[in-house]
Amino acid sequence: MIRIALQAKGRLNEESMNLLADAGISVEESKRKLLSKANNFPLEILYLRDDDIPQAVANRIADVGIVGLNEVKEKGSPVDILYEPGFGKCRLSLAIPKNEPYNGLQYFNGKKVATSYPKILAEYFRENGIQGQIEEIAGSVEIAPSIGMTDAVFDIVSSGGTLISNGLVEVETVMYSQAVLIGPPAPDPEKEPLIRKLIFRLESVKRSKGKKYILVNVPNDKLDRALEIIPCMKSPTLLPLADQRWSAIHTVVDEELIWDVTEQLKSIGAEDILILSLERMIL
Ligand code: ATP
Ligand code: MG
Repeated sequence: MIRIALQAKGRLNEESMNLLADAGISVEESKRKLLSKANNFPLEILYLRDDDIPQAVANRIADVGIVGLNEVKEKGSPVDILYEPGFGKCRLSLAIPKNEPYNGLQYFNGKKVATSYPKILAEYFRENGIQGQIEEIAGSVEIAPSIGMTDAVFDIVSSGGTLISNGLVEVETVMYSQAVLIGPPAPDPEKEPLIRKLIFRLESVKRSKGKKYILVNVPNDKLDRALEIIPCMKSPTLLPLADQRWSAIHTVVDEELIWDVTEQLKSIGAEDILILSLERMIL
């Protein structure tokens, strides 16, 4: 049995649960509980505030956890990044009121900056020789300048909409973040095979995202041309059809290229093109 720490509620909760579901791991509906068990995988889920996840993993209260890289860096807990599932992408940026003239990083000398990430910001200021004043606040960082609390903010940005609606403009990007699966530097040897099994499943789900399975019948004299058109990762499968003048090609293609590829295949005389969704890809 391994224990995974996930965010109890908030931005990463839903996608973390969806990720487990895509990996074929079903979990009892028990949002109110601190701990729940998967039905069909030796996995227990510990629901925590995201702030507590790095420490829970470092202290081996949980064997692995899913949390934003920003929290991992801020907490500085000794954990390893095992895998990037590909969601929760955002950046940590400095932003100032939009009417202020900005003349580069030295702007922040002597300025007060509100943030929930004081350690990351202090390190950035130190590296760049800036003497800023950091005001740690837990939430609603973006309103601090408008209420006269600080001159600027250092906060999470994704689309930038929250900054704009608070009259702020992003001036420096300090780090990029996304959700990461973390584990302790030296995992328990008894748990390691299960952790590897979990990552293997997550990887096969991620690999199949954005990919389609294509089946197409091609006249034999056009096979070479068809194989040039289809950008595939490996050698595609070729199958003879009952009509000996035709063959079928089966392969996997990036979703974004599907229309382009099918139009080109039609134009050389291909027929019966089937595009199927792909659930797993195990190489
Ligand atoms: P908790 O109650 O667990 O402490 P929180 O309020 O600290 O939650 P959330 O706002 O739920 O945190 O964000 C969790 C994580 O999701 C962040 O640390 C960050 O990695 C990521 N994140 C936050 N905002 C965004 C966003 N706008 N787009 C993408 N990812 C984001
Ligand atoms: Mg938090």
